Amino acid sequence: MALIVQKYGGTSVGSIERIQNVARRIAKFKQQGNDVVVVVSAMSGETNRLLALAEAIQTQPNPRELDVVLSTGEQVTIGLLCMALQEIGVPAKSYTGWQIPISTDKVHAKARIEDVNDAKLKQDLKEGKVIVVAGFQGVDENGDITTLGRGGSDTSAVALAAKLKADECQIYTDVDGVYTTDPRVVPEAKRLNKITFEEMLELASLGSKVLQIRSVEFAGKYHVRLRVLSSLKDECEGTLITFEEDENMEHVVVSGIAFDKNQARVNVKGVPDRPGIAYNILGSIADANIEVDMIIQNVGENDTTDFSFTVPRNDYQNALKVLNAEQDKIHAKTIDGDDTVVKVSVVGLGMRSHSGVASQIFKTLADENINIQMISTSEIKVSVLIDEKYLELATRALHEVFQLDK
Ligand code: ADP
Ligand code: ASP
Ligand code: MG
Repeated sequence: MALIVQKYGGTSVGSIERIQNVARRIAKFKQQGNDVVVVVSAMSGETNRLLALAEAIQTQPNPRELDVVLSTGEQVTIGLLCMALQEIGVPAKSYTGWQIPISTDKVHAKARIEDVNDAKLKQDLKEGKVIVVAGFQGVDENGDITTLGRGGSDTSAVALAAKLKADECQIYTDVDGVYTTDPRVVPEAKRLNKITFEEMLELASLGSKVLQIRSVEFAGKYHVRLRVLSSLKDECEGTLITFEEDENMEHVVVSGIAFDKNQARVNVKGVPDRPGIAYNILGSIADANIEVDMIIQNVGENDTTDFSFTVPRNDYQNALKVLNAEQDKIHAKTIDGDDTVVKVSVVGLGMRSHSGVASQIFKTLADENINIQMISTSEIKVSVLIDEKYLELATRALHEVFQLDK
């Protein structure tokens, strides 16, 4: 008998029929003699609908109250799924995050899970019940509801699996595993049977939303066996996220391509080239709680320097405002930018031992006449910033040149 944590995403519980389908799937696992703990997301579109309601009242909704509103989506799903399970004779009980409780820090909208109390869960499992937990939410030390950031139900599931020492954490979604790139953009993308934690971490952090990055970090830290599967297909093995040292995996140079549309570039040109200038520019951005991703500094003319960096798109206008307000410290000739850019990243453990991947990327994009605006690299990835209109073309071309469709 195994203990399995299963997480069903928004599309998988997007209608009454789909919730009933999930209930039948859970019943099957239960009948095979497994203990099952289920984590669910809000029905598809629901979190966005709730967000729009909040933003119709406050352009920047109060963080505490926004979490109160957003957390309701999952509360609906847990109740409905338990009813569907009960209808087919499976005893089931629902819990919100605060009922368990799943304790988090106090950072609304991107709270981190600190602990999961498993007392009630263990009791329910002993009584043979299926437990259905609301994903994406927790409670802080003041008893305030928190949410874990978009896609956070993945992390709820992994945290429960870690605490309960589950045999496997299964993430059920609308694709049957992790692909070489987003199959919605490149139909030739191939499912990977396995991918290492390191590569999955890179893909998740670089924009592949199939798993929330924190869920991968958590699974790596607590050695949770993590698998991505389809809730819409039967009998698929999905993709297993593995520890490299566990496996004799034969390494291809490139294993996947990710892209991130949530990017905007800020240019600060003609700043006096002297110590402290990077701090003056990026310090004020950090003080405004804006996260900076790629950074470039170039030598300009007459002892000046040009500075470019990227920020999340919804922080773009704010970033320009902050810099303009700091002009008496920065003394830039021009401050401008572009919020129609995307970051495309090529990831693979094999890059450690193979040179030439970066130049292959640059050649491929040059052949397609795609201008590269910024570049950043690490041991196992190369990212380029390009105009958003070339996103599909670039991803397809790179997918082909690295033979990911083979
Ligand atoms: P859920 O609602 O189940 O959490 P998400 O929409 O968050 O599902 O994640 C699944 C989606 O991730 C897929 O529909 C797919 O479009 C997208 N995706 C992006 N990159 C990849 C990839 N490399 N492999 C699989 N899916 C990917
Ligand atoms: N419902 C939340 C979201 O849409 C959490 C999740 O689906 O994982 O981001
Ligand atoms: Mg998701």
